[in-house]
Amino acid sequence: MRLKTKLIIGLGFLFIVILAFGILSIVSINRLKDNAEQILQNNYETLVYNNNMLESLNRLPADSSAWKAFEDNLNQQEANVTEQGEGPTTAKLRSAFETYKSKPGDSLAHNTILKSLQQINQLNQQAILQKNELVKQSSETANTWLTLIFTVLALIAFTLVVNFPSIISGPIRSLSEGIAAIAGKDYKKRIHLKQKDEFGDLANAFNTMAEKLNEYEHSNLAKIKFEKSRIETIINKMTDAIIGFDEKRNILFMNAVAESLLNLKEKEVAGKYAADIALKNDLLRRLLQNGNDDELKIYADNKESYFSKERIVMKNEDQLIGEVIVLQNITPFHELDEAKTNFIATISHELKTPISSILMSAKLLEDERVGMVNEEQKDLVQHIKEDSERLLKITGELLNLTQVEAGKIQMAFQPVMPKEILLYAIEANKKQAELQKQTIEMRIDPSVEAVNADKEKTSWVLTNLIANAIRYSFEDSKIIVSVEQKDKTVVFSVQDFGKGIDSKYKDRIFDRYFRVPGTKEEGTGLGLAICREFIEAQGGKIWVESDYGDGSKFSFWLPVA
Ligand code: ADP
Repeated sequence: MRLKTKLIIGLGFLFIVILAFGILSIVSINRLKDNAEQILQNNYETLVYNNNMLESLNRLPADSSAWKAFEDNLNQQEANVTEQGEGPTTAKLRSAFETYKSKPGDSLAHNTILKSLQQINQLNQQAILQKNELVKQSSETANTWLTLIFTVLALIAFTLVVNFPSIISGPIRSLSEGIAAIAGKDYKKRIHLKQKDEFGDLANAFNTMAEKLNEYEHSNLAKIKFEKSRIETIINKMTDAIIGFDEKRNILFMNAVAESLLNLKEKEVAGKYAADIALKNDLLRRLLQNGNDDELKIYADNKESYFSKERIVMKNEDQLIGEVIVLQNITPFHELDEAKTNFIATISHELKTPISSILMSAKLLEDERVGMVNEEQKDLVQHIKEDSERLLKITGELLNLTQVEAGKIQMAFQPVMPKEILLYAIEANKKQAELQKQTIEMRIDPSVEAVNADKEKTSWVLTNLIANAIRYSFEDSKIIVSVEQKDKTVVFSVQDFGKGIDSKYKDRIFDRYFRVPGTKEEGTGLGLAICREFIEAQGGKIWVESDYGDGSKFSFWLPVA
C-alpha cells in the first residue's frame, strides 16, 4: 500500500472517529433536552393551570373576575390534554364548572371541581415521575454507549498513534544509515525494505545508486592502478635517476638507475625518512642539500659518470606536497666538452709558436738593418703585426680558457703590492690609450696592504679590464683605475665613461662567449669569463656596475695577504 494511502486511511479514520463521536454526543444531548422540554410542556404547564383554577375557585363566587380567570385556565388545560385519563377528567371538570357557574352555591359541583382538579394534578405528577425515570434511563443508556464507543475509539486511535510513526521513522532510519555508509565510501551497502510504498521505491533507487557507485569506484580504481603502473614503468625505464619524496621528505620511490647509483633498494627505503638514510649514504646526503644544477661526479658500476641535479618542488595551491630529485646523466656531454677543450688547447698551443714567429719576423722586417722597405711594404708589415698580435691574444685567451675548463689553473700565490699590478696593467695598455687619445687616471690609496694573489693572473685580469674600458668607450674620454682597501680586502676598479651595459645583459657578460648584441669591436667574448675564473680561483669576487649610456665600472676584490 502506498504511503499516501496509508496516511489518508490513518488520518481519515481519526477524522471519522472524531466526527462520529461528536454526532453521537450531540444526538444524545438533544434527545435528553427534548425529553425535559416535553415534561415541561405537557405536565408542568397543566400543574400551573390547575393551581390557577384552584386559586380562582377559592375566590368564587364573591370575586366575579375569578370566573374569567378560571374559564381561561380551563380552556388552556383543555388544549393541553396529554396523559391517559386526563381527557375524561377535564371534561368532567368542564361540566362541573358549567353547573357551578349556573348555580354558584352548588356544593356538589364545587366538590366535583375540586376532585377533578386533584385528579388532573395526580395524573400529571405521576406522568412527571414516569418521564423523569425515562429521561434518567435514556441518559444512562447514552452514557453507557458513549463510554463504550469512546473506549473502543480511544483504543484504536492509541494503536494508530503508537504504530503509525514507526511506519515512517523505520525506513527513514534505514535510509539515513545507508547514506552514512555511502558517505564513508562503503559502496556495498544495500537497504532492504519489504514495503511497496514510496519508501520501497526510495530504497530501490538507493540500491541502484550504490551499485553504480560501486561499479564506478572499481572501474576508476582499475584505471588509476593501470595509470600508476604505466608511470612506474616509464620512470623505471628512464636513463636519468629519479627519486621522489613526500612533503616530510620521506622517500616515496626511486627508479632502477637511482637504486644502482645510490646503492639502495627502493623496497627497503620506501616510506623512510630520507635524512635517516642519508646518515649512511654520502651521495644521498649530497643530493638532499638544496640547490639545482650542481654537476656531480659519481663512481658507480666501476666507472666515472657525471650527473646534473635538478630539484623539482611540487606544490598544490601553495602547499608543499613533495619533491622530486632528477639526476640527468650528462657523461656523454661531458666527454664531448672534454674533447672540445683538448682540441682547442692543442690548436691554440700549436698556433701560438708560428704566430709568435710571424710577429717576430714582421718586427724584423721593420728593422732597417735587415733591409729597406718602401712605404707600402711598411703598411703591409704593420697589418701583419696587428693581425698577429690579435691572433696571439685570441690564442692566449683560448689557452687560458682550456686551463680553466680542464680545472687545471695553477695558482702561484704570493703577497703582491696592488700598485705593482696596477702599474703593469696601465703600462700594457698605454699605447692603445694614447692611440685613442684617452687618459688613464690612477687613484691609489697609499695605505693599501699587499694582497695574497697570483701576480701574473691578476695583472692579466686588470689589463683585460682596462683594455675593455679603452675599447668600449669613446676617444678623448677618461678611464679611472683605482685601488682601495675595505677591511681585509683590496678592491680594484676600472671605470670608463663609454656606452655602458644594458641592465638586461649585466648578468650574462661574465658568461663564456657572450658578447652584448650589436658590439662592433672585435673580440671573442672570453675575456670577462676568464677574469671571473681567475678572480674566484683566488678567493675573490668580480662584478660590474653600469648606467646604460654613462659608462661602466668593473671591480674585483682580493683578500689581503
Ligand atoms: P670581448 O671583449 O672579447 O668581446 P669580454 O668577455 O671581455 O669579451 O666582454 C664581453 C662583452 O661585454 C663585450 O663583447 C662587450 O659587449 C661587453 N663589455 C665588456 N667590457 C665593457 C665595457 N667596459 N663597456 C661596455 N661593454 C663592455
